[in-house]
Amino acid sequence: MSEEMKSCIEEAEKALLHTYNRYQLVLEKGQGVNLYDMDGKEYLDFCSGIAVFALGYGNKEYNDALKAQIDKLIHTSNYFYNQPAIEAAKKLKEISGMDRVFFTNSGAEAIEGAIKAARKYAYNKDGKTDHEIIAMEHSFHGRTMGALSVTGNPHYREAFEPMIGNIKWAKLNDLESVKAQITDKTCAIILETVQGEGGIYPASKEFLEGVRALCDERDMLLILDEIQCGMGRTGYYFAWQKYGIKPDILTAAKALGCGVPVGAFLLNEKAGSNSLVAGDHGTTYGGNPLACAAICKVLEIFEKDHILENVRTVSAYLEEELDKLAAEQKNIKDRRGAGLMQGLEFDGPVAGIIQKAMDKGLILINAGSNILRFLPPLVISKEHVDAMMKILRECL
Ligand SMILES: *Cc1c(COP(=O)(O)O)cnc(C)c1O
Repeated sequence: MSEEMKSCIEEAEKALLHTYNRYQLVLEKGQGVNLYDMDGKEYLDFCSGIAVFALGYGNKEYNDALKAQIDKLIHTSNYFYNQPAIEAAKKLKEISGMDRVFFTNSGAEAIEGAIKAARKYAYNKDGKTDHEIIAMEHSFHGRTMGALSVTGNPHYREAFEPMIGNIKWAKLNDLESVKAQITDKTCAIILETVQGEGGIYPASKEFLEGVRALCDERDMLLILDEIQCGMGRTGYYFAWQKYGIKPDILTAAKALGCGVPVGAFLLNEKAGSNSLVAGDHGTTYGGNPLACAAICKVLEIFEKDHILENVRTVSAYLEEELDKLAAEQKNIKDRRGAGLMQGLEFDGPVAGIIQKAMDKGLILINAGSNILRFLPPLVISKEHVDAMMKILRECL
């Protein structure tokens, strides 16, 4: 590492609140599926900023659209309408089949909005304020107080108690565990269609159908968090679209703006017209023209460049290659995931493998201490998979 980069990192550790144990890398620029640190070293990126940069770096069309919007209008206020927000909402409705959109600035804020909508929906029915939400163990929904309250990692929550309260815990893919938590007060069930931070666990078709049926029977709202697994990552715009079920509320963020901070929660007509009304919820930045211009361009490029088709083709190949590797290596216990969201579970910590890969110019991250997580840009090709596998093999 150059003295320059070393001193840059020292400066960072003096100025930034130490809430991350960061890798010893200062990233400076990106092109396609490659990142470059300030010493000019090239990295093949299989993290994409945690499932954000779906289109790869330096996409000219995307960059030009943002530059044009900056010159036109960056921000208004939600007191007014703006064209990019209208266009982005229309497009999101089309790809999701949902009916109403609320734009946020992050994933956690989308979860906050979803929780408020669910509580308001139940409140409108019985006027009570003691409603419960069922969430999953090992889930991750974000770091703000409401999102943290439904995040199934006690370690993340402990120091910040009390949480928002009335949260019950069930196990993903165990319908009986969900049924056991249902009471007359339950207003919603929240889960990630594919658990990300918790270790790349896809919800099964049977489980999703079961949870959907329970929600229908008792008029509870199903909230699917697609912040990580949505926006094409599994080969569908949203992972639930593979299963023929639909949520009442959907959350999206991460790849939604492909780098511009933006999130959204979307509601079906039932939830949308019986929950939040004027005065109930708001945000200053949410849905501003710059963020929404990003969404519009992202969705346009997804369609034009057939991103979903690419994910399906390349992810089938990635799965095959990872399965081969898992069969060769005794210390790999499992390969699981959906599309270009894959995990390899090892019998011990993967931090050493990640560091070795980084030294060899490959960026990978973990999901829990024992799971290697693969979240490449959605524009990768089989050749990139081959290049990644070659380095990974060397590291093992
Ligand atoms: C990242 C993530 C969040 C939180 O999003 P932020 O933008 O970091 O607030 C919520 N849910 C899931 C599934 C995520 O992966």
